[in-house]
Amino acid sequence: MQAAIRPGASTPLMLRTMLLILSMMAGLACAQPVIPVVGNEDFIRIAPSQLEYLLEPAGTDPAEFLRHSNEHPWQASQSLLLEPPVSEQAVWVRLRISNQSAQLLPRLLEIQWVNLNRISLFQTWPDGELYRVDNGLDVDQTTLYRSAANFLLPFNLHPQAVNEIFIRVETKHLLMLPFYIWEEESYGRYELNYYYLYGLLFGAMLVMLLYNLFLWIFTRDGNYLLYCLYLASTVLFLLSATGIGKHNLWDGNTWLTLHSYPLFAASAFFTAALFFVSFLQLKKRARWMYGFGILASVYWGIELLINLLSHSFPATMTNTAALITSMVALYITVSLAVRGDRIAITFSIAWAFLISSTIILLVMLLGLLPQNFITQHIQSVGILMETVLISIALAQRINRERNLRSRAQQALLSLREQSNRELEERVQQRTEELEKLTGRLRRTNDELQRLSITDVLTGLYNRRYFDEVLYKEIIRSYNNGQPLALVLADIDHFKQFNDQWGHLAGDECLRIVAEELQTNIRSETDCVARYGGEEFAIIMPGLNEEEAIRRAQSICHSVAHKSLSVRGKTLSVTMSFGVTAIVSDKETTSELVTAQADQALYQAKDAGRNRVVGFTSTDN
Ligand code: GH3
Ligand code: MG
Ligand code: MG
Repeated sequence: MQAAIRPGASTPLMLRTMLLILSMMAGLACAQPVIPVVGNEDFIRIAPSQLEYLLEPAGTDPAEFLRHSNEHPWQASQSLLLEPPVSEQAVWVRLRISNQSAQLLPRLLEIQWVNLNRISLFQTWPDGELYRVDNGLDVDQTTLYRSAANFLLPFNLHPQAVNEIFIRVETKHLLMLPFYIWEEESYGRYELNYYYLYGLLFGAMLVMLLYNLFLWIFTRDGNYLLYCLYLASTVLFLLSATGIGKHNLWDGNTWLTLHSYPLFAASAFFTAALFFVSFLQLKKRARWMYGFGILASVYWGIELLINLLSHSFPATMTNTAALITSMVALYITVSLAVRGDRIAITFSIAWAFLISSTIILLVMLLGLLPQNFITQHIQSVGILMETVLISIALAQRINRERNLRSRAQQALLSLREQSNRELEERVQQRTEELEKLTGRLRRTNDELQRLSITDVLTGLYNRRYFDEVLYKEIIRSYNNGQPLALVLADIDHFKQFNDQWGHLAGDECLRIVAEELQTNIRSETDCVARYGGEEFAIIMPGLNEEEAIRRAQSICHSVAHKSLSVRGKTLSVTMSFGVTAIVSDKETTSELVTAQADQALYQAKDAGRNRVVGFTSTDN
């Protein structure tokens, strides 16, 4: 069997307007006004050119109207759309069907357009009786001959006669052609296929809806929620437009039966506009794009609200708004796609599927393409492809955002690495500087330390250091019980030397004597210091007095025999030495030991100088 075309079933609002324009361009006028029927047809599609119509004059009684039917100004239809005036005026349609068979043929007239408030079929039977049957949204559904997704009106084709069928339609919207005349059994088969096909379509769309709903739940990205709302609205709109909603879902709900179509259309446009603005990030694009998006959202929001309040919106305004919204949205999408936005490219392809499939349907309706299963239902496939592709675009977005995030993380990471490196370099540089500084400081400190214990003139240890060493050695001697010897040495008649050769020569003499002392001590253990003026002190740990005296005598001898070259003259000096040695006990002090050595030194001076005297000993 051949399924019928569903122009009202799945044609979005804007496309119906396109349809109007296209069908006008095609000019489907002047054909056979009498429709031949032989009896074996599954269905007959009534083309616009095969009917005549007129608008009902105000205050007409249908029976009266029909009695004078031939006097009315019937006109041929050029279009698939019969648009009633804004007023409540009804449209009359006249069909002439010639039953060429010998049987009475019971038939069903199907009108595939859901927004009809009342459709009445009139037929004058051969016996003169006026047959009338009613259907439509305002009609008590329990009185129907048969409940179906679309409106069905039963009638009979009387044999061997031209049957005149009058159809009166009340609608607040458009009246879409064509009509179909069905053989009842064929209609049953067709209806089954119809539900099967749309069951698949709705199933697929519900899967998309759930898929995106889960994505929203997991990602909390508002785009998915908006897309879900758009999908839900589209499904509801399709349910309404196919009549499946009325017939199967909200059967008996008068409010929904009357309002669902414009309500869900407005809702689909409203959610589509919100999704469009958010998903294509129009705020970041050209200002006019964002402005358009907001304007469209506000307009459709208002229309949705008005529909919710049970007021109807003028159909022409809705259609114009739908056409403008869709065209501008398409323009924006394509212009973004042309600029290389990959998501917009997917979006454009999605649009292209919807629009091209609709155009194929329209061209078929105009008779320029064969009417077959593919051309009849390609638009459903187009809608499905659109939703699938937009889901892909959404997935692309996840991908793009993940890429952006990972790129940003990468950049952050390398920035952190770089700053770490710089920081390390700086720390190292500072550390090096600090080390240099510390080294310099240490050296300075060492130098200061050295200077603080050195006698400037002779380079020997100074008195301060001597005191320190003597104190430590006294303690050490106390601790280890070893003897400690102290030698005080004084240059003889040095005042005289100074007087005779000058102070500078005296200084030079002091330096030479110091050097001599230094070379004659045990460098490892002994400590020689300038005690003051021309006096020197030698600490000799571990030596008893006898050993110390011997050593002092050796030094005394070397000094006495040392030639001093001063200002070209060879001079000499002698020194006197006072020696003492102790093994420290608790009473031992530096003063005591020094006093003993000093006393011995006095004795050496007194005894004639240039000699060594031990503290307890007598003159040598
Ligand atoms: P004595 O044999 O009794 O020790 O006689 P002396 O002249 O060496 O002793 P005195 O204490 O009378 O004189 C010490 C002199 O040493 C006085 C001072 O001019 C000299 N003197 C002290 N320190 C320095 C110095 O740093 N340089 C020079 N050139 N002379 C100094
Ligand atoms: Mg002296
Ligand atoms: Mg002296």
